[in-house]
Amino acid sequence: MTKSRLLLIILLATLAIGCNDARKSGMKEIDDWAEGMAASRFDAYGYPCNQNIALKEFYEWYMANDLEETCMNNVGDPFVGSPFHQSCSKLEVDVLRYFGDLYDMDQDNLWGIVTNSGTDGNNHGLYFGYKYLEQKTGKKPVMYVSDEAHYSNMRLADVQNIDLRLIKSDAMGRMIPEEFEKALDTSRPCLLVYAMGSTFKGAIDDQDAINAVLDRYPDVAVYRHIDAALFGGYLPFTQYKDLVDWKRHPFNSIAVSGHKFFGMDEPCGVFLCTREVYDNQGTFDIAYLNQDMRMINCSRSTVAPLKFWWLIHKVGTEQWKKEAEAMLECTQYLKAELDRIGYPCWVNEYSNTIFFKRPSAEIVTRHSLAQSYDEKFGGELAHIVVMQHITHERIDRLVSDISAEMQNE
Ligand SMILES: *Cc1c(COP(=O)(O)O)cnc(C)c1O
Repeated sequence: MTKSRLLLIILLATLAIGCNDARKSGMKEIDDWAEGMAASRFDAYGYPCNQNIALKEFYEWYMANDLEETCMNNVGDPFVGSPFHQSCSKLEVDVLRYFGDLYDMDQDNLWGIVTNSGTDGNNHGLYFGYKYLEQKTGKKPVMYVSDEAHYSNMRLADVQNIDLRLIKSDAMGRMIPEEFEKALDTSRPCLLVYAMGSTFKGAIDDQDAINAVLDRYPDVAVYRHIDAALFGGYLPFTQYKDLVDWKRHPFNSIAVSGHKFFGMDEPCGVFLCTREVYDNQGTFDIAYLNQDMRMINCSRSTVAPLKFWWLIHKVGTEQWKKEAEAMLECTQYLKAELDRIGYPCWVNEYSNTIFFKRPSAEIVTRHSLAQSYDEKFGGELAHIVVMQHITHERIDRLVSDISAEMQNE
C-alpha cells in the first residue's frame, strides 16, 4: 500500500469515529483499559518484568510491511526449516545461536526453539530429560527439584506423571545438598532441575555442591535441566556469567523467559539443549508436516523470534551488560536504603530480588509487591524484583513510603 493511500485511510477512519486522537478506537471499554495500562506500567515492582521496552520501531516496521495482515507460524524444527512458508526459521536459528553463545554452548552441539514462555521451556526440559534418560537406561527416572523452585516444575512433573522428590531448601532458598543425597534413589536415573533462581527469595542452587553429591554415585545416569527463566537473562551479562556457562557447569538443557530480562512485551522464551539430547528422543514423523516433530508444540510464534532478533540487533550485548550491572547496583542500593532505615530485608548472592517484612496492604498494592510467608523470617513477607525500570528515584519513593509507615507505628 502506498503511503498516501494509507494516510487517506487513517484520515477517513479518524473522521468516521468523530475524534482525532489516534489512541482512541471509539470503543470505550477497550480505550479505557489501554489508558490504564500505559499509565501504570512502571508501578510493577513485585514481578520480574522489564518495562523498558524498545519495540516501537519494530511494530512500525511490522505494519509498514503489512505483516499484521499475514498469518505466520514457525511450526516445525527451526534447524530443519519450517514446512510452512510463512515463517522465519532462519531468523529463529540466529536467535538460538545467540543464546548458545551466551551460555557458552558448542554451536555444533546445539538444538532449541523459541518457546511460549519459561514454563514451556521447562516442559521441554523435563520431557526431553525424561525421554533421554529412559532411552539411555531403559529405566524410569526420578525428578529432583528444590521446594523453593518455581511451581511450574512441580506442575509439569504432575502433568507428565514423573515421580517427583521435592528437596528441602535452606532458609535462603537453596536446595540442601545433604537432603538431596538422602532423597537420591540410586537405582534409577536422576532428572535434576536446578532452580536459578527460586521464585520468592531469588536463590541459586549450588551446582558445585550438588554435583559433588552426584560424583559419589557414578553409576546413576543424570540429566541436568536449568530453570533460568529470570536469572538466565541477566547473569550472562555480569561477572557471574560462569554460573550459566555450559563449559564450566555442564547442563543438558536450559530454559529462559523472553519477557523478563530481555524486554519482550509478551510471554515467550528460549529452550536450548545439546544435540545429544535431541538425538536421544523418540521420533515423531508427521506426514502432513513432512517432518520429525520432536518438540511438544505444533504451532509456534513467528513474531516472538522476530522480536528477539530485533532486540538482539537493536539493544544487544553491550546495552544488556549495562542494564544487568545497573540492576544489580540498584538492588544493592535498595538493600542499603532499607538497612539505613532499619527495615528487615534479605537478598541472595547474585540476585536482583530483595525480600523484606511485608509493609501495609496499601503499600503492597501501590507498588504491586509480591507476597509470601515464612516463619524463619518472622512471617509475612513481600519482595521486589529489581528490573530495568526500577530506578533510584522509584526506590527512594518506596523507601520513604515504608519509612513514613514505620514512624506511625
Ligand atoms: C518466571 C519463572 C518461571 C515461569 O516462567 P514463565 O515465562 O512465566 O512461564 C519459571 N521458573 C522461574 C525460575 C521463573 O522465574
